[in-house]
Amino acid sequence: MRSWSIPIGRLFGVDVRIHLTFFVLPLFVFYTESAEHSGKANPSHDLALVGIILACVAAHEIGHILAARRFGLIPKAVILLPLTGVTLFDESHSLKPPTPDSLWKRDIRLALVGPLVNLALAGFSAAVVTAIVPGIQLMKWPFLQASDLPKSIVWAGLWIAGLNAIPAYPLDGGRILRAIFSRKLHISAATRRAVSISNAIAMVLMIAGLFSNQWLTMVGVIIFSAAQLEERALVFQSVLDNVRLEEIMLTDFATLSPADTLEDALDKAVHSLQEDFPVVRGSDMVGVISRQRILDALRAEGNGYVQAVMNKIFEVSVRGDSLGSAFRKLTSRNSSIIPVVEDQRLIGIVTLQNLMHSMSLLAESRKLRRDESES
Ligand SMILES: [Zn+2]
Repeated sequence: MRSWSIPIGRLFGVDVRIHLTFFVLPLFVFYTESAEHSGKANPSHDLALVGIILACVAAHEIGHILAARRFGLIPKAVILLPLTGVTLFDESHSLKPPTPDSLWKRDIRLALVGPLVNLALAGFSAAVVTAIVPGIQLMKWPFLQASDLPKSIVWAGLWIAGLNAIPAYPLDGGRILRAIFSRKLHISAATRRAVSISNAIAMVLMIAGLFSNQWLTMVGVIIFSAAQLEERALVFQSVLDNVRLEEIMLTDFATLSPADTLEDALDKAVHSLQEDFPVVRGSDMVGVISRQRILDALRAEGNGYVQAVMNKIFEVSVRGDSLGSAFRKLTSRNSSIIPVVEDQRLIGIVTLQNLMHSMSLLAESRKLRRDESES
C-alpha cells in the first residue's frame, strides 16, 4: 500500500492518504470541460468543481468514520480516490467484538451511512441554492458542470451517493453485497467473491465508457484501483493472522553478554548485519540492546558495560504466535526486537526489519500461489 498512496494529514484522528489516481480528477475535469466549451475552459471554476467533489467525498468518509467508532471499529486509514474515498478498517482489532450473527448487519449499516450523509447534504444544499439563486434549474442537464457551481454542489452529493451504491467492492454497495455473502461464507471468501464481481463491473464500465461517456471509464478505473487496494490489505491481513513466528524468525543470530563492555559489543555488532541484539547470561535472556543504543551510550558516557544500558523490559513470544501478535508487541512497546523463547531458552529472534521483509515476501508468494490456483 505504500507505493500507490501518499499521506496528506489526519481527519478525526484517522490517517488520510491520497491515491495517485486522484490527480487524474483535475486533469479529467479540465479536459471534459474544455471539450464541452470548445477549448474555452475556466481553470478557477474547474478547480472549484474539484473542490466541491472533494468536500462531498470528505463528508461521506467522515460519516463512515464516526459510525465506525460507534460500532467499536477502528478506522485504519482513509484513502481518497477521484470521486470517492475508501475507509480501511482494522478488522482484527474490534473494541466490541460483535457476534458473527450481527456482523453482517453492522457492515450493512456502516455502508449505508456514507451515501445517506451525501443525500442529506444534497437535500439541504438544494433547499439553500433554490432559495438564494433565483431561477436556478436544478433538473436541467448537464448536472455536474464547472460553469454552474451551485447546481454542481447539489448534484455532486447525489452523484457520490449513487456511485457508492454500485455493488462493486469496496464501494458501499459492494460492502453490502459482501455482508450478504458473509452470512454463508467466511469473511475472506466473501471478500474475494465481492472483489471478483467488482472487477467484472469495473471492466464493463471501462469498456462501455469508451463508446459513450468518458466518465464511465473513469468510474471503472476508480473501482478497479479501489478493489486492488482492498485485495492487498486482505492478503496482508491473512499473512498477519496465519503465519507463525517459527516460519520467519531468525535462528542464526549474534547475542551479547551483560558482562561485555560497550566497546566489545560494538566490535561484535560491526561483524553482524543485526541492528538489535538479545543479551544472554548462560541460557537466560536478560535484556535487549540495539546497535544505536550502544553507540549513543559510548558517545555520552564512554565505555561501560552492556548490563548498565540494555533494555531490561521486553516482550517475548513463542514459536506458535502469529505475525500479527508480534507486530502489535513491537509497535506497542516501540521496540525493534522480540526474542522467541521455548522453556525459557532463546530459540530465535524477530526484528522489525526482518518482520517487514518477510511480510512483503510472504504476501507476494501467497498472491502468486492464489493466482496459480485460480487460473
Ligand atoms: Zn462509502
